[in-house]
Amino acid sequence: MKNLKLVAARPDFSRSIVTVQGVEFGRGFVVIAGPCSVETEKQTIETAIAVKKAGALMLRGGAFKPRTSPYAFQGLGLKGLKILDKAKKETGLPIVTEVVDTRDVSWVGEYADILQIGARNMQNFSLLREVGKSGKPILLKRGMYSTLEEWLNCAEYILAEGNPNVILCERGIRTFETYTRNTLDLSMVPAVHKETHLPIIVDPSHGTGILSMIEPMSLAALMAGANGLEIEVHIDPESALSDKDQQLTVPQFERLMRKLDRAKAFLDSLDAEFADKAGGNGGGDADKTDNGIEAKIFADAVD
Ligand code: PEP
Ligand code: MN
Repeated sequence: MKNLKLVAARPDFSRSIVTVQGVEFGRGFVVIAGPCSVETEKQTIETAIAVKKAGALMLRGGAFKPRTSPYAFQGLGLKGLKILDKAKKETGLPIVTEVVDTRDVSWVGEYADILQIGARNMQNFSLLREVGKSGKPILLKRGMYSTLEEWLNCAEYILAEGNPNVILCERGIRTFETYTRNTLDLSMVPAVHKETHLPIIVDPSHGTGILSMIEPMSLAALMAGANGLEIEVHIDPESALSDKDQQLTVPQFERLMRKLDRAKAFLDSLDAEFADKAGGNGGGDADKTDNGIEAKIFADAVD
């Protein structure tokens, strides 16, 4: 891929680990969970306590919501950030929240542990430059009409500003298929591992928009080699002010986390069994030799 100087896979195939308050993206499997939007203190803190208990390592929640309609709930702004801060103090979970405007980057960064760049802003180059300058860890979602090359060039914008802390997030793209909200392109997980050293997580909530598909696609993301997930969970989805149809209830999330634990153990056993052979799944430890071999085969093929 052209022009990827800082983001491209390294000659030794080593991977970046992005560490956020002790949580490591690129090693192990990190689940970020929480509501689509911060709505009330009660909703956010109760959700935070529940997702932490179930094994989530970070809390998500939007205070600035990029909505299709200007009349839809736009988020609580500063009030929402203050609620997230309370939830963090209550649970110890670091916060992932979206920033949509260059003018907000520095002060939103005072509350966020990871600044999320949403799909609609993936190619907002001034925003990318600004979050690059902030030095904060960035969760860069894939634009819904973007190719891998365009997405990685957006990551390059952030690294080019001197910020190496970028985590990619596959969240589905628009295709001719309208059954799902988006087409969750899990093939990007091994593609990202081949082309870059950056970690990648998957968002099956926006990626499918369908409750019953979130569990199977989460398990599939793990098996594809993702470094984690971002999932929407709400204590009472029926009452949610945004994305009510795709937010898991707490019991649904708990069940998913139990299944993920079992699947992780199975994947680790596979990795151990096939450790010396080419064709690994691209997940797990940053320095796995099987992924290096696989990447090398690919590099040879395109030369
Ligand atoms: C979100 O995660 O809150 C969100 C709006 O997702 P996306 O930008 O992927 O649509
Ligand atoms: Mn949402």
